[in-house]
Amino acid sequence: MKITAAVSRESRTVPELEHVDLEEPRPDEVLVRIVATGICHTDINAHNGHGPPVPRPIVLGHEGAGVVEAVGAGVTRLAPGDHVVLSGNSCGVCPRCLDARPTYCREAMRVAFGGARLDGSSPITQDGDRVAAVFFGQSSFATYALAPARSAVFLPKDVPLHLMGPLGCGVITGAGSVLEAFRLRPGQSIAVFGTGGVGLAAVTAARLAGARRIVAVDINEPRLDLARELGATDTVLGGAGADQALRDIAPDGFDFAFVTADVPSVYATATTCLGVEGTLGYVVAPAGEWVPDTGFLLAGGRRLQGIIGGSANPHALIPQLVDHWRAGRFPFDRMIEEFPFSDFARAWTETGSGRVIKAVLRMPET
Ligand SMILES: [Zn+2]
Ligand SMILES: [Zn+2]
Repeated sequence: MKITAAVSRESRTVPELEHVDLEEPRPDEVLVRIVATGICHTDINAHNGHGPPVPRPIVLGHEGAGVVEAVGAGVTRLAPGDHVVLSGNSCGVCPRCLDARPTYCREAMRVAFGGARLDGSSPITQDGDRVAAVFFGQSSFATYALAPARSAVFLPKDVPLHLMGPLGCGVITGAGSVLEAFRLRPGQSIAVFGTGGVGLAAVTAARLAGARRIVAVDINEPRLDLARELGATDTVLGGAGADQALRDIAPDGFDFAFVTADVPSVYATATTCLGVEGTLGYVVAPAGEWVPDTGFLLAGGRRLQGIIGGSANPHALIPQLVDHWRAGRFPFDRMIEEFPFSDFARAWTETGSGRVIKAVLRMPET
């Protein structure tokens, strides 16, 4: 079928909308009419050649939400007309997948960044030429996407689909880190470094989990205001005074530090502010030299924990987050700004500049 997709080409600063052809679903796939899709910084990094390399041209996008239009012959869990949010891709058969921990799938890198199904095929072509796709099992910067049925999370019909896409990556990464990876208990404390979509989801989840102290740290002051509205008990402006400000707030240190920025000095501050048996969790590696103070970590039983996708099983956590959202306890949509798909370039540029926290592209009504 003919679809419209934002195609990422090496020669361009921004992916541009083009007409491409999409295959029929394979037996284990679903065809989803995308209603809306978020832009994540991983899309921007992939386009700009930072992080794991992707083949080009490629259709990016991995926070899609939409309506199932058709299902492959082997799909029994979903049917046409179902509402879904697309989560990350996984192989479905490795030990971690079988243990419902798909973000640590043995094939995680290949199924996210490989630009193809595991058999090497791509479902998208243009005038017969291959276009890489299956980005995180989605390539949802498009009017339609083919996804493995395994990665499509069923949504009830009474929730607004156009707001749900970010649950598939940015929101589950932040919320899952607090709820699943840290298993933060009521009364504990957390410092969140970076208040983009992932950091703000973590702040909101920390309030949900009953954290006593939630400190948001950023150099962007308007975002700190939003962090306070979403549950931060304190905010700290990043930079030279941050270490002392954090010590003033929590003289014995924090139970958790959560780092969503790749700045080495942020890692240093986040480590220093940890209390005894505190954990520093991070979702991006530092971009540059950073040497952890291993003596400080050892002496206090402190830990470093890498976290992918919030360590969450999307089929378990996303429905919970939807219920919390419906009850007003998890207002992640406060960070969303909507753009029509035709305004892709503006949404992309304003996400990259930090003007917008979470851009969501809405597809034209059909
Ligand atoms: Zn993402
Ligand atoms: Zn796997």
